[in-house]
Amino acid sequence: MGNTIELDHVSKAFDGKTVIHGLSAAFEDGEFIAILGPSGCGKSTMLSMIAGLERITSGRILIGGTEVQNKAPKDRGCAMVFQNYALYPHMSVRENIGYALKVAGVPKEERHRRIAEAARVVELGDYLDRRPSALSGGQRQRVAIARAIVREPKVLLFDEPLSNLDAKLRHGMRMELSQLHRRIGATSVFVTHDQIEAMTLAGRVMLLNAGRIEQFASPHDLYHRPASTFVASFIGAPP
Ligand code: ADP
Ligand code: MG
Repeated sequence: MGNTIELDHVSKAFDGKTVIHGLSAAFEDGEFIAILGPSGCGKSTMLSMIAGLERITSGRILIGGTEVQNKAPKDRGCAMVFQNYALYPHMSVRENIGYALKVAGVPKEERHRRIAEAARVVELGDYLDRRPSALSGGQRQRVAIARAIVREPKVLLFDEPLSNLDAKLRHGMRMELSQLHRRIGATSVFVTHDQIEAMTLAGRVMLLNAGRIEQFASPHDLYHRPASTFVASFIGAPP
């Protein structure tokens, strides 16, 4: 089965108001998927339900063929990178990256090996002894990514991780993220409201509108064969 993700008629209601309407889709092992759509369409909710940070109201979620909707977040094999990635200010980069491993009781030697590897992947190997305050915005975001990949997750979930960076840095980080994905090969789901970001990063893009899938297709097909006027106007709009 590998690290597939299946969403089977997933619904979510907050206080009786449905925000995700029976959504079904399957992501293949190692795919880079973008969930795209306007603010409030349900992107973060969808990601949080995969990670287990929000319970689903009905339906099923399977990771690697196993139902996970009743499992605790730590038992799902997902790691999430947020927009407002809070690093621990009093810890070095090394301690920030390794904290989850320490909590999980991973022995020191293995911890250090995995921290070094994760830092190498995000090219922060020379910065392990620094504090977050001595890093640039892009470097801090890379620490947040290293913190996620050090856990060797089956699934990497990104919730608008580049939105707080300036345009130039964001462009560079996009390139880094797609290279990173190729290197580690985890199934990745990337949430964004920026169609350019989705189209350049992902192999397939799921465009949401008010909790429903408008189209789930390759960037090429979204651009050249929009399924609705909503898709055409969203993809065609300036970012
Ligand atoms: P997006 O990430 O696409 O901007 P969200 O998933 O954050 O959208 O929100 C989808 C809808 O669910 C919105 O209408 C939002 O107001 C609502 N919502 C999200 N989280 C909660 C919550 N904890 N309680 C009540 N409503 C929520
Ligand atoms: Mg959101």
